Amino acid sequence: MSGAAGPGANLTALRSHNAALVLRLLRDAGEDGVSRPELAGRTGLTPQAVSKITARLRAEGLLAEAGQRASTGGKPPTALRLVPDARHAIGLQLDRDEVTAVLVDLAGTSVAARSAPFDFGAPAEEALAAATAEVRALLADAAAGGGLLGVGVAAPGPLDHGSGVLHRVTGFPQWDGFPLRDALADLLALPVVLDKDTNAAALGLVTAGTAESAAYLHLGTGLGAGLVLGGDVYRGARTDAGEFGHQVIQLDGPPCDCGNNGCLEALCLAAVARGDRTDAARLLGIGATNLVRLLDIDRVLLGGRMVLADPEPYVRGVATMIAEDSARASRPPVSVDVVERGERAVVEGAARLVLAPLFALG
Ligand SMILES: [Zn+2]
Repeated sequence: MSGAAGPGANLTALRSHNAALVLRLLRDAGEDGVSRPELAGRTGLTPQAVSKITARLRAEGLLAEAGQRASTGGKPPTALRLVPDARHAIGLQLDRDEVTAVLVDLAGTSVAARSAPFDFGAPAEEALAAATAEVRALLADAAAGGGLLGVGVAAPGPLDHGSGVLHRVTGFPQWDGFPLRDALADLLALPVVLDKDTNAAALGLVTAGTAESAAYLHLGTGLGAGLVLGGDVYRGARTDAGEFGHQVIQLDGPPCDCGNNGCLEALCLAAVARGDRTDAARLLGIGATNLVRLLDIDRVLLGGRMVLADPEPYVRGVATMIAEDSARASRPPVSVDVVERGERAVVEGAARLVLAPLFALG
């Protein structure tokens, strides 16, 4: 693992990547902790390198002693553990009609949460004032022990993750070109990372060390997908991947706010609006089947308000359609489930946008 950066790699970056690997092992070990020899064994780093890294992390307050390990002869090694409340990150979800904020610790545990009605169609200044007020109220509520690392913001796409600029959000063209990340960073005086709501949730599906592929399908006030391909969140060349809702599935279908006709999102939201969950699930299943065929993914997770209000017909409908299609193609079945964190999948995923680099994830 330590050789991945290769000779001539920047020493500071290498050191911090190794520190991230050590932090991830400590986080995954929880209260029991890990000893220095175990850290060396699992990372492939030398004992000297591990001692240096752990000393630095300890000086920063990120780790503490967790008691002694059983001796295998000689002095028993001391276990080290992550101090979860040494630092915190904020997750902020801007939905079309609601703003949600959570404060999470280093272990990703939510320690405070708030939500309020929100108008994504309001003038930018007003919307930003409402969003930042929610973050300030969250911080006033919570007695956060450790320093704040930053704010991860999840918003409806399309947007540019790299530059932090919104694109033409369907139904809200006034945000096109708006530098949301920098505007929020100025107002909050904190580092900010911006990503699509679906990508934030997809980050929660990443399991370190696996090459799994998964799709998160979000049916809320819009319809989108977050993709994990080969173990990493896939954002695409312009970070526009996952515009799942705007695949045309009916050439003579009703107009969609995006300018096309017969988009999956328009058809699916119309079915939801007339209370026909069976048809909404069938439509979602058509899109999910297309995705499974196109990308050969291992599992599908469903989330978003419309699904979570009554998950059973959606899970059953989508699973049945994928299973029938897979059977026709003699492919093994793909699992379909409700996303693990439910309503919090997006906002806690947003906080992960800030935490992930600390643990060499995402
Ligand atoms: Zn469309």
